[in-house]
Amino acid sequence: MDELLEKVKAIDLRMVMEDLGYKIVQNRRMKCPFHEDDSPSLVIYPPPQNEFHCFGCGKHGDVLNFYAEVNGISFKTALDRLAYTYIPNYEPENKRSFKNEPKLQVYNKKDPAANYVYQPIHSDIYEDFRTHCLNYPTTESTIAAVNYLRNRGLEDWNIRHNRVFMVKNYREVNAYLKEKYSVADLQSSGLMNQNGNLIFYVHPIIFPYFQNGRIVYLQGRTIGPPKDRASKYQFLKGLPRPMFNSDILATLRTGKTLYITEGAIDCMTLVQYGEAAISLGSAKHFRPEWAKLLRRAKVIIWFDNDDAGRSGTQELLKTLTELGITVSSKTLPEGVNDINEYYNNKNK
Ligand SMILES: [Zn+2]
Repeated sequence: MDELLEKVKAIDLRMVMEDLGYKIVQNRRMKCPFHEDDSPSLVIYPPPQNEFHCFGCGKHGDVLNFYAEVNGISFKTALDRLAYTYIPNYEPENKRSFKNEPKLQVYNKKDPAANYVYQPIHSDIYEDFRTHCLNYPTTESTIAAVNYLRNRGLEDWNIRHNRVFMVKNYREVNAYLKEKYSVADLQSSGLMNQNGNLIFYVHPIIFPYFQNGRIVYLQGRTIGPPKDRASKYQFLKGLPRPMFNSDILATLRTGKTLYITEGAIDCMTLVQYGEAAISLGSAKHFRPEWAKLLRRAKVIIWFDNDDAGRSGTQELLKTLTELGITVSSKTLPEGVNDINEYYNNKNK
């Protein structure tokens, strides 16, 4: 066997796991990062075996498999990084690539969203919330919200296709949800704040995120520019944000162009013009484990024309290139803020 490979495979798996932020219990068990794990189902076999096995999902491997998988990087990159971190005097093949290396993702400790366990009841609540809102009689604010979306060039079929809906009567739907579900469930679904009230108070336009056709996440938006100190968007409390329109990835042909955008409305605009697109919700919200979903696509990053958009583009270009994705970026003409504005100007 290759000498370096042998050395790397001998690096204590438990040490690497702990350095990555995983909490090991009973000296040899941890919650599995590869499936939704309530109990510590992943068992570590100490050296000389130095491997792991998950009794929940069946995932099995050595230190290299683990490191590559949780960081969403190739086996080769994992080998190089592990050697660089743990083998004294190791000189990486391409030293320059390590200089600006992004910080490795630490899953269990720092990022509370990484501990999130998906619960099917959340989807039930979101779907019910939507149905209830749709069935409520139209109010003035509903008309304002629909007009706002139409003014931004979104056609009715597109709004319907994305199943966008409106909070028509905040007090009424807030009471409805609390009558039907426990506050604990509503809070764990991210819909209710600490005080036990619906979070979409000033964000009545709701964009659902789907996985396999089911709502798995919701994002609220103000009608027009936000007032006072409110933010334009309201995301669910304490839940990891998936990609918007990610169901499109399953239908994407190999080599087809896929745009990555910031806002849901930008994404919907591109879709209206026949393009394939997903959105991240903001310029700096990409999770490495998503990379595998993008492998077949020719990715084009098209973010907003501001500082966050520009630096986000550079970061994501680097991340995706490193993860082996075919990627380029596009910039908007001067004075045009986002994709939606760009297309609306074109059609004036
Ligand atoms: Zn597992």
